[in-house]
Amino acid sequence: MGTTIERRDAVRLGTVEVPYVFKRVPRRRQVHILVNDEGTVEVRAPWRFGLRKAREVLRKNTDWVLKTRDTVRERLARRPRLVTGARLPLLDGSLRLDVRPRAQIGLFDGARPWRGRAERRGTVLRVSTASLGEGELRALIEHWYRREAATWLAGRVEHYSPRLGVRPSRVTIRGQRSRWGSCSARGTVSLNWRLMMVPVALADYVVVHELCHLRHMNHSRCFWAMVGSVVPDYQHCRRSLDALQGRLLL
Ligand SMILES: [Zn+2]
Repeated sequence: MGTTIERRDAVRLGTVEVPYVFKRVPRRRQVHILVNDEGTVEVRAPWRFGLRKAREVLRKNTDWVLKTRDTVRERLARRPRLVTGARLPLLDGSLRLDVRPRAQIGLFDGARPWRGRAERRGTVLRVSTASLGEGELRALIEHWYRREAATWLAGRVEHYSPRLGVRPSRVTIRGQRSRWGSCSARGTVSLNWRLMMVPVALADYVVVHELCHLRHMNHSRCFWAMVGSVVPDYQHCRRSLDALQGRLLL
């Protein structure tokens, strides 16, 4: 079957006109409403769904849609602008952002346009970019964090695995907004690159938490006892991470 079909539409919810993105997804069975990271409402629906049905589902969930959209928008509004001088958290410290616009030069025919790059110089993260769009900047900075995360988090896994007597089959770096980490039944530990933006103690707690799932695939007392053997103040860590969720810069 084909790939996802996407179109834009709007629906009146209460007193407001709400634009939304309608996606028909092959093989999807249930309709799912969400508000994406940019504050846009999305309806992901089974292949047979039409716009009329999508609007109906949105109207039925008016309160949830409007409230969730407000929450995401407030969060976006609080997000500091990515301009020179902005502070980017990095574990227990921070970096100062330095944005350098560059003209696109030295392009060869057929080559992909140069988008820019981010590199660290001491306590400065210098981003040279061909475009000053927020989205482009964000992507370059995220790319830098992801690379750092791949090395640093792998090191933390190396550090804690022998202490806990476990060994993941694989470590992957992810970027979901809704979770800091996860562990699969196959032994893959996934860690969020945004852990590079929280204090070391909290990032370590997430690493330990996921490693302990290699032994206990649940949140039983045995599981928490194992976590507590390495991170005694894990309850404090959990609360701190909850408070940080969704309040990170990127
Ligand atoms: Zn867990």
